[in-house]
Amino acid sequence: MLKALEKAGILVEALPYIKKFNGKTVVIKYGGAAMVNDQLKEAVIMDIVLMKFVGIHPVLVHGGGPEINNMLKRLGIQSHFIQGLRVTDEATMEIVEMVLAGKLNKEIVALIQRFGGRAVGLCGKDGGLMQAKKRFELVKNEAGERVPTDIGFVGDVVKINPELVRELSDQGYIPVIAPIGAGEKGEAYNINADTAAGELAQALEADKLVLLTDVEGILKDFHDKSSIISSLQIDEVPNLVESGVIASGMIPKVQCCVDALQGGVGQTHIIDGRIPHSLLLEVFTDKGVGTMVVK
Ligand code: ADP
Ligand code: MG
Repeated sequence: MLKALEKAGILVEALPYIKKFNGKTVVIKYGGAAMVNDQLKEAVIMDIVLMKFVGIHPVLVHGGGPEINNMLKRLGIQSHFIQGLRVTDEATMEIVEMVLAGKLNKEIVALIQRFGGRAVGLCGKDGGLMQAKKRFELVKNEAGERVPTDIGFVGDVVKINPELVRELSDQGYIPVIAPIGAGEKGEAYNINADTAAGELAQALEADKLVLLTDVEGILKDFHDKSSIISSLQIDEVPNLVESGVIASGMIPKVQCCVDALQGGVGQTHIIDGRIPHSLLLEVFTDKGVGTMVVK
């Protein structure tokens, strides 16, 4: 009996959140372990389908780094690096697009359909969704100066046309988006999936942006898993980046939260995708499951 009551209690706890986010847009960056491990994959997709059925509009932006690396290896395509940064040459970009917009995108769509949702897979080329331009990364030269450097088909977002995504959402579909942008001549650019999700959240005027990753959240000390920062004020970010507390792949994540908040997105979260149903916990309960970046 108590068990049944507990279950009812959990459902009732979700009510204010269901009400609050009814008809609202939540952009989710899907990547890391949650995209590799079968059980986690299914848990995330179930959470997303559930969100849709209770009246929220989830929009997915996915990554796929490990799958791209596997395919490059399988095909024997060598990568060149400049100061540790992979150069995305034409041959590499071809694989990036095949894996992201083809294989992975459609796998996610199929999984959503399997769990009873309706999904449509897109990349930034579709409907002019994501216009991009070449990104020049600041790389140190021999003299130690940081100079803008061409690292191939890696792009920055120039403009987002969110109409198609909004239209699909309103029609009951879950949009699933591969972070490939189109240049002026239609050429493909690989865009960091966190950045793409943040830009899309702004363009959609989303109420929430959730970035799933493979760490607990933002850690004060990277070696101490208990040093998680539950709530991070955006004006604290520059210092944490400067001092190296926030580094590597966490920089685009936190930066896109900052940009999203300044661009009008309601809430931004970096959460642990290795915890089953972390997305569900984040959206529908009082539990904090990662780092919330706040204005
Ligand atoms: P994703 O595939 O989710 O984009 P990334 O590897 O790009 O993952 O970015 C997350 C990584 O950022 C973490 O695994 C960690 O190695 C690194 N990182 C750097 N600074 C921090 C920090 N302060 N707290 C947590 N992770 C950090
Ligand atoms: Mg990353």
